[in-house]
Amino acid sequence: MMFSRLVRLDRVLDFFTVWNMATGIAVSTLLLTATPASSQPVPGSLDVHWNEGASDCNATPQEPLQVHRYEAQTFILRQSPCADFEANFIYLLIGSDKALLIDTGAVADPKPMPLAKTILELLPEKNHQKLPLLVVHTHRHLDHRAGDPQFASFSSTQVVPFNLDGVRAFFGFINWPNGIGHVDLGGRTVDVIPTPGHNETHVAFYDDRTGILFSGDFLMPARLLIDDAAAYHESALRVIDFLKTRPLTHILGGHIELNAAGRAYRFGSHYHPNEHRLELVRADLTALPAAFEHFNGFYARYPKYILTNPIHNLLAMAFIGVTALIFIVWGVRRLLRRRCG
Ligand SMILES: [Zn+2]
Ligand SMILES: [Zn+2]
Repeated sequence: MMFSRLVRLDRVLDFFTVWNMATGIAVSTLLLTATPASSQPVPGSLDVHWNEGASDCNATPQEPLQVHRYEAQTFILRQSPCADFEANFIYLLIGSDKALLIDTGAVADPKPMPLAKTILELLPEKNHQKLPLLVVHTHRHLDHRAGDPQFASFSSTQVVPFNLDGVRAFFGFINWPNGIGHVDLGGRTVDVIPTPGHNETHVAFYDDRTGILFSGDFLMPARLLIDDAAAYHESALRVIDFLKTRPLTHILGGHIELNAAGRAYRFGSHYHPNEHRLELVRADLTALPAAFEHFNGFYARYPKYILTNPIHNLLAMAFIGVTALIFIVWGVRRLLRRRCG
């Protein structure tokens, strides 16, 4: 989510950007020619209880990273709510030539969060070498890329830049946010769909092997933090249109912030008792445009997500605060005048 860290970083030319430009490793991108998946999605299991953190993390040591095997070539990793309140979900998709890691989570330090080491162990070998790894991000908020530096020393790993220019260039978007990018993993194609609105760099990933949409912070059982409502609405329509002719098994996002009853945990909480299911369904996506059309610009609660514009809410609170202050000052001056007069 990262509202607290909504810092404009798009002008930061980081190490990975430079590295990627230097290597110029090509990704298979072909705009506007996405073809629907023809075969049935490979089934998988979401029979898992995600680590819910603890009310006292110090008293209850947690495994930092939970690894769930959805099917033989698809892994879901969840960072413990005790390691970071964002408790990000990270996804590893394995093809026959290459593997794809979607997001690197909220924790940079490999000591408390051995993400790269865990991913390396999960990667299969081909010709006596670990499969090459491509690291991508749903968007540039720090909780989705803090683990990037852990992959810097990996020889056959490429980390895609997180700034907008880098994302557009890498996936070959010439008319952002229109068009669809493609990543070919070998016998498995992942489509890249621009979904700005929560953040201008946001993309969602559709996997033709499993029929899963990896939706990041665009759609999840959580607070959907709105940066640009019009762009968000357009993104919802774009994804609905893209999926019209494709099978959709699950929508898997970046966080869970609601309990099973749809109530949000306190912001920053390390304890998520009785969490909402991670997976959402097509109906949750198709309901999104109408939710935006009826949005009051501040806050709206739905059973599976909460729409909220943090900037508007802050401005409203500031306005209420200033109005209250003016009223108090006026009241005190009036009281003093009466007493002294
Ligand atoms: Zn996030
Ligand atoms: Zn975010």
